[in-house]
Amino acid sequence: MSEEKDCIFCKIARGEIPSEKVYDDGEFFVIRDINPKAPSHLLVIPYDHIPTLMDVEDTALIGRLFALIKQVAQGEKVDEKGFRVVHNVRSWGGQLVYHLHFHVLGGKPLAE
Ligand code: 5GP
Ligand code: ZN
Repeated sequence: MSEEKDCIFCKIARGEIPSEKVYDDGEFFVIRDINPKAPSHLLVIPYDHIPTLMDVEDTALIGRLFALIKQVAQGEKVDEKGFRVVHNVRSWGGQLVYHLHFHVLGGKPLAE
Protein backbone atom coordinates (compact mmCIF):
# COMPACT_ATOMS: atom_id res chain seq x y z
CA MET A 1 0.00 0.00 0.00
CA SER A 2 2.84 2.42 0.78
CA GLU A 3 4.15 1.85 -2.76
CA GLU A 4 0.81 3.00 -4.11
CA LYS A 5 0.80 5.96 -1.73
CA ASP A 6 4.11 7.22 -3.13
CA CYS A 7 3.63 6.21 -6.78
CA ILE A 8 3.41 9.14 -9.22
CA PHE A 9 0.86 7.45 -11.49
CA CYS A 10 -1.30 6.38 -8.52
CA LYS A 11 -1.22 10.01 -7.36
CA ILE A 12 -2.29 11.12 -10.85
CA ALA A 13 -5.02 8.43 -10.84
CA ARG A 14 -6.30 9.79 -7.51
CA GLY A 15 -6.16 13.37 -8.80
CA GLU A 16 -3.46 14.36 -6.28
CA ILE A 17 -1.11 15.41 -9.10
CA PRO A 18 -2.64 17.33 -12.03
CA SER A 19 -2.35 15.85 -15.51
CA GLU A 20 -3.79 16.31 -18.96
CA LYS A 21 -6.08 13.29 -19.06
CA VAL A 22 -7.34 12.44 -22.54
CA TYR A 23 -9.19 9.20 -21.73
CA ASP A 24 -10.60 7.33 -18.75
CA ASP A 25 -12.74 4.19 -18.65
CA GLY A 26 -12.28 3.18 -15.02
CA GLU A 27 -9.75 0.44 -15.89
CA PHE A 28 -7.27 2.55 -17.86
CA PHE A 29 -6.50 6.23 -18.15
CA VAL A 30 -4.43 8.06 -20.76
CA ILE A 31 -2.43 11.22 -20.09
CA ARG A 32 -0.02 13.40 -22.02
CA ASP A 33 3.60 12.83 -21.01
CA ILE A 34 4.97 15.79 -19.03
CA ASN A 35 8.21 15.63 -21.05
CA PRO A 36 7.03 14.82 -24.59
CA LYS A 37 9.52 13.16 -26.96
CA ALA A 38 7.25 13.67 -29.99
CA PRO A 39 4.41 16.06 -30.95
CA SER A 40 2.00 13.44 -29.65
CA HIS A 41 3.26 11.55 -26.58
CA LEU A 42 0.66 9.74 -24.53
CA LEU A 43 0.93 7.30 -21.64
CA VAL A 44 -1.61 4.49 -21.41
CA ILE A 45 -1.89 3.41 -17.78
CA PRO A 46 -4.03 0.87 -15.90
CA TYR A 47 -5.51 2.10 -12.61
CA ASP A 48 -4.15 -1.02 -10.87
CA HIS A 49 -0.74 -0.46 -9.32
CA ILE A 50 1.22 -3.12 -11.21
CA PRO A 51 4.93 -2.24 -10.91
CA THR A 52 6.25 -3.86 -14.11
CA LEU A 53 5.27 -6.13 -16.99
CA MET A 54 6.84 -8.98 -15.02
CA ASP A 55 4.18 -8.47 -12.31
CA VAL A 56 1.22 -8.76 -14.71
CA GLU A 57 -0.87 -11.78 -13.69
CA ASP A 58 -3.97 -11.07 -15.79
CA THR A 59 -2.30 -11.19 -19.21
CA ALA A 60 -5.67 -10.46 -20.89
CA LEU A 61 -5.16 -6.93 -19.53
CA ILE A 62 -2.39 -6.48 -22.10
CA GLY A 63 -4.84 -7.31 -24.89
CA ARG A 64 -7.32 -4.75 -23.61
CA LEU A 65 -4.51 -2.23 -23.26
CA PHE A 66 -3.42 -2.70 -26.88
CA ALA A 67 -7.02 -2.39 -28.06
CA LEU A 68 -7.02 0.97 -26.25
CA ILE A 69 -3.69 1.92 -27.84
CA LYS A 70 -5.32 1.46 -31.27
CA GLN A 71 -8.21 3.67 -30.19
CA VAL A 72 -5.91 6.33 -28.74
CA ALA A 73 -3.80 6.40 -31.92
CA GLN A 74 -6.94 7.00 -33.96
CA GLY A 75 -8.03 9.75 -31.57
CA GLU A 76 -4.65 11.45 -31.96
CA LYS A 77 -4.83 10.95 -35.76
CA VAL A 78 -1.41 9.29 -35.79
CA ASP A 79 -2.72 5.94 -37.00
CA GLU A 80 -2.55 6.54 -40.75
CA LYS A 81 1.03 7.81 -40.96
CA GLY A 82 2.18 5.62 -38.11
CA PHE A 83 3.33 5.77 -34.54
CA ARG A 84 5.52 4.01 -32.01
CA VAL A 85 4.63 2.08 -28.85
CA VAL A 86 7.39 2.00 -26.23
CA HIS A 87 7.44 -0.07 -23.08
CA ASN A 88 10.40 0.05 -20.70
CA VAL A 89 10.95 -2.81 -18.25
CA ARG A 90 12.96 -2.30 -15.04
CA SER A 91 16.19 -0.38 -14.70
CA TRP A 92 18.18 -1.63 -17.69
CA GLY A 93 15.11 -1.10 -19.86
CA GLY A 94 14.95 2.54 -18.76
CA GLN A 95 11.83 2.26 -16.58
CA LEU A 96 11.62 5.29 -14.29
CA VAL A 97 8.06 4.99 -12.98
CA TYR A 98 7.30 1.58 -11.48
CA HIS A 99 3.63 1.52 -12.40
CA LEU A 100 2.81 -0.25 -15.67
CA HIS A 101 2.49 2.13 -18.62
CA PHE A 102 2.93 2.16 -22.39
CA HIS A 103 4.17 5.18 -24.35
CA VAL A 104 2.40 6.08 -27.61
CA LEU A 105 4.51 8.44 -29.71
CA GLY A 106 3.64 10.02 -33.02
CA GLY A 107 3.14 13.17 -35.05
CA LYS A 108 6.55 13.13 -36.76
CA PRO A 109 8.72 10.51 -38.48
CA LEU A 110 10.38 8.43 -35.76
CA ALA A 111 12.38 5.95 -37.81
CA GLU A 112 16.14 6.47 -37.59
P1 5GP B 1 9.44 5.35 -18.11
O1 5GP B 1 10.87 5.69 -18.33
O2 5GP B 1 9.15 4.87 -16.69
O3 5GP B 1 8.91 4.39 -19.14
O4 5GP B 1 8.64 6.68 -18.38
C1 5GP B 1 7.98 7.44 -17.41
C2 5GP B 1 7.39 8.63 -18.13
O5 5GP B 1 6.54 9.31 -17.23
C3 5GP B 1 8.43 9.65 -18.62
O6 5GP B 1 8.32 9.80 -20.04
C4 5GP B 1 8.08 10.92 -17.87
O7 5GP B 1 8.23 12.09 -18.66
C5 5GP B 1 6.62 10.68 -17.48
N1 5GP B 1 6.24 11.37 -16.25
C6 5GP B 1 6.90 11.34 -15.07
N2 5GP B 1 6.25 12.07 -14.15
C7 5GP B 1 5.14 12.55 -14.76
C8 5GP B 1 4.06 13.37 -14.31
O8 5GP B 1 3.99 13.80 -13.16
N3 5GP B 1 3.10 13.66 -15.22
C9 5GP B 1 3.14 13.19 -16.51
N4 5GP B 1 2.13 13.56 -17.32
N5 5GP B 1 4.14 12.42 -16.95
C10 5GP B 1 5.13 12.09 -16.10
ZN1 ZN C 1 1.05 3.16 -8.93
